[in-house]
Amino acid sequence: MGKIIGIDLGTTNSCVAVMEGGKAVIIPSAEGGRTTPSVVAFAQSGQRLVGQAAVRQAVANAERTITSIKREMGSAYEIKIDGKTFTPPEISAMVLGKLKKDAEAYLGEAVNEAVITVPAYFTDAQRQATKDAGTIAGLEVRRIINEPTAAALAYGADKEENRKVLVFDLGGGTFDVSVLDIKDGVIEVVATAGNNRLGGDDFDACIVEWLVAEFEREHRVNLSGQLTAMIRLREAAEQAKKELSSAKNATISLPYLSESKGTPLHLNLTLSRAKFDELTAHLVKAMAAPVQQAMGDAHISKDNIGKVLLVGGATRMPAVQEQVKNITGKDGFKGIDPDECVAMGAALQGGVMIGEVNGLLLLDVTPLSLGIETVGDVCTHVIERNTTIPISKSQVFTTAANFQPSVEVHVLQGERPRASQNKTLGKFRLKGIQKAMAGVPQIEVTFTIDVNGIVHVAAKDLKTGRAQDITIESSSNMSDEDIQNAIRDAQQYAADDDKFRQATEARGQLQRLLGQADELENQAKSKDKQAYKAMKEALSGPIKTAKKALGSKNPDEVMSACDALETAMGPYRNGDEN
Ligand code: AMP
Repeated sequence: MGKIIGIDLGTTNSCVAVMEGGKAVIIPSAEGGRTTPSVVAFAQSGQRLVGQAAVRQAVANAERTITSIKREMGSAYEIKIDGKTFTPPEISAMVLGKLKKDAEAYLGEAVNEAVITVPAYFTDAQRQATKDAGTIAGLEVRRIINEPTAAALAYGADKEENRKVLVFDLGGGTFDVSVLDIKDGVIEVVATAGNNRLGGDDFDACIVEWLVAEFEREHRVNLSGQLTAMIRLREAAEQAKKELSSAKNATISLPYLSESKGTPLHLNLTLSRAKFDELTAHLVKAMAAPVQQAMGDAHISKDNIGKVLLVGGATRMPAVQEQVKNITGKDGFKGIDPDECVAMGAALQGGVMIGEVNGLLLLDVTPLSLGIETVGDVCTHVIERNTTIPISKSQVFTTAANFQPSVEVHVLQGERPRASQNKTLGKFRLKGIQKAMAGVPQIEVTFTIDVNGIVHVAAKDLKTGRAQDITIESSSNMSDEDIQNAIRDAQQYAADDDKFRQATEARGQLQRLLGQADELENQAKSKDKQAYKAMKEALSGPIKTAKKALGSKNPDEVMSACDALETAMGPYRNGDEN
């Protein structure tokens, strides 16, 4: 059986891990990093770049570089490049495809299955979109698990003690809090809460806003509409934020950021930690409510918390750590790497699924309540939030009008009492119901949430037996056909990318060979005129072909030129060695 890789598909960075010798290990990227930036770029040459390569060219190619796509998962957002439209799952699939490829290179075998993590607070649409992204990348998503749960799995896997753990997870774009009960190898999520639009990126945005204001004050130039300048500001802001996690001041220096009447304008500013804390105080404050909600839902007080795990790179900020202590009364535990533990937990879950890891059981919960719309814009819950999944639950509803021939089932997710204020997961109509006075028909609505947190809904008229059911698939905004097309595109691009890479490598090899041929000729020239003439004659044809092939995008042409030149040089190389 093949390996199941564990993937933390992050807003800013992604990470992939696998089980090796009973332990979860991080798979390094092809570039040697332990995480891969979740950045995709479309180079002018038509090549797609993912990760570090995409980051490197972001300033010069701002309009065609995509960051933080995770924030758009499950939404109708679309990106248009060169007349082609991409959905968030398709862009995420490019990141997943790179992680898959890196894992295959590391393991030396094909990888077709993955456990992918999502923020606990992700809605059904966002989970579906993540699953679709995996499918497009050629990965069977064996399980979607919540990021804080994965972190606890990585932490709790080899711990003996039984305890309640609060996971405080602040990533690039999302904030999650989960309370877990770890007991004899069973990791049970008791409550989860969060905000899927709050993360480290928002702290960067506050710094950017400050920089723009300071720059305008000094130079009377508003940078907000200047795309390249804004990308440089964002990069510098993130860097400054990271520095302020250990230093009291950060210097931000961006020469030639803009210009005014032909004069270049530079930015040189120092941001103190105190100022940074002041600019971002509202974000830190916003973290209290979800923590209190999760603790309330789990019926625990500060005293019952055994440990607070800090997950996500943004928990390195001192103000965030202080806030954690204020709310929970405990210092956050830093014994696990906040950037890596989620992927490791996902790999462990993969290990559990193929029987490589024993004695661990993960019990997760649904983060948001599910229900249907009833008369008067009311949201009637069928499954309350924090119910352990998988679960199936039914409730009987009836009609509001006399002799109503059909009912519309409007499926909702969220905590608000008014239907219109919650998220619509889907709508379907149950036809041919019993013709009767209002309140007489009995319509049973059944909600099922699978282990991935994905929702299925069915409605049945108990009298006529008429039934209708849906899996809330449309919520990711991609139909099956869209996904199949995207899979074909991704495969086509993977093949094109491989061709491009091979051609690039072959051109490098050809360049080296041409250099060596030059060297051989020079050596022969200085030693023996006759031999030089013979060599020149033998090599001139292959060298000419090689120089022409250097401009080719076809790897076969480049490689055949390599072979021809290598063969032609063979006798002279030996002679040289002798
Ligand atoms: P994640 O999604 O878990 O990879 O978290 C990424 C977020 O953590 C980004 O917003 C990073 O800028 C932020 N981050 C990483 N390292 C640090 C640090 N040393 N101090 C503050 N934030 C950091």
